[in-house]
Amino acid sequence: MLIVKKFGGSSVADAERVMNVARIVTDSYREGHEVVVVVSAQGDTTDDLIAKAREIDPNANKREMDMLLASGEQISISLLAMACEKLGCPAISLLGWQAGFRTDSKYSVARIKKVKAERIRAELDKKKIVIVAGFQGLNKYDDVTTLGRGGSDTSAVAIAASMHADLCQIYTDVEGVYTADPRKVPNARKLSEITHDEMLELATLGAQVLNNRSVEMAKKYGIELEVLSSLKKAPGTKVKEVTNVEKMLITGVAKDTSIARIEIVGLPDSPGVAFKVFALVAQAHVNVDIILQSVGRDGTKDISFTVPENDGAKTVEAIREYCERKGATSINCDTDLAKVSVVGAGMETHEGVASKMFEALADANINIQTISTSEIKISVLIDRKDADRAVLSVHDKFFDNED
Ligand code: ASP
Ligand code: MG
Repeated sequence: MLIVKKFGGSSVADAERVMNVARIVTDSYREGHEVVVVVSAQGDTTDDLIAKAREIDPNANKREMDMLLASGEQISISLLAMACEKLGCPAISLLGWQAGFRTDSKYSVARIKKVKAERIRAELDKKKIVIVAGFQGLNKYDDVTTLGRGGSDTSAVAIAASMHADLCQIYTDVEGVYTADPRKVPNARKLSEITHDEMLELATLGAQVLNNRSVEMAKKYGIELEVLSSLKKAPGTKVKEVTNVEKMLITGVAKDTSIARIEIVGLPDSPGVAFKVFALVAQAHVNVDIILQSVGRDGTKDISFTVPENDGAKTVEAIREYCERKGATSINCDTDLAKVSVVGAGMETHEGVASKMFEALADANINIQTISTSEIKISVLIDRKDADRAVLSVHDKFFDNED
């Protein structure tokens, strides 16, 4: 079998952990598999590199930022190759460009265009374990690019897709995907399987096991992923198109506490206003999530929407001039919020999920400010201070008396 294995930063944080990964990799190689390994930078290396750059210039040139950040993975791939050799197996490390990663030109958030995997193939044919630097590639100017934080997951999926791998395993420091954050919710359970769509919702909602772009790509190319622990030998969670288990009503409860809500009061209740506001937000490259528009009254309407917390101030700046010119009486950015969501493919065919969630929140005496739904997700906005309690209460309601 051709197996792609990806290891995150915590799995290769120090020499001992690197040796641990080398054992997993060489065991699989000795079983007769072709093994391609993708690794992230060790531990907090990427954060440390960013801090170094900030000491010089907080707004450093993005090309140079990518040049800097790509160095983190260069350390981990070479160390891991040495570790595999020490365990008696031939290995070779490759930087993103050597492994054939071509990307677009957007420094720090580059997208993979293709993986020309000839070199990887050639090294596999020489019976080597191939160890590839995640998170990086080369653009059309032959400059190094990086894929955005957490991008190594996407590197692994891209290799699996372009080489038609039989298996793509994402090793991390948790044992799989859970019904809620196991550090906060004591009775959270590990899921044996989850669909790409459910995982995508959970990934976007801040359940930080997989990078959401990697899940998007896995879905697009029909790649089955397995999320598992590098520290404990145990079956992980399979992320696949259709799960074998009967559709679970709810697969997970997630929270996102890094959101901001922009509220615009007193816009004219006329055509084209919402269009213009959101066009300005899009021009500022800000992703909008939950949008709410009030019913028009006295010729005016209010619009509120959520954005990533870090983009709050930038968003207000982008729309201020237009909104004031149109007579808006206030534009606020509220960061005292959290989004709590339940996700589950079973929702499409079962009624009563929303009421059950709202009942759990009422039980905990938590006020719902906004509700938003999609086919497989219900999200509410609540006070940020209530977020953990909300997750606990909702999780209890859906998972306590199952089994
Ligand atoms: N080292 C990069 C980061 O920390 C990429 C990754 O971990 O996937 O964001
Ligand atoms: Mg990392």
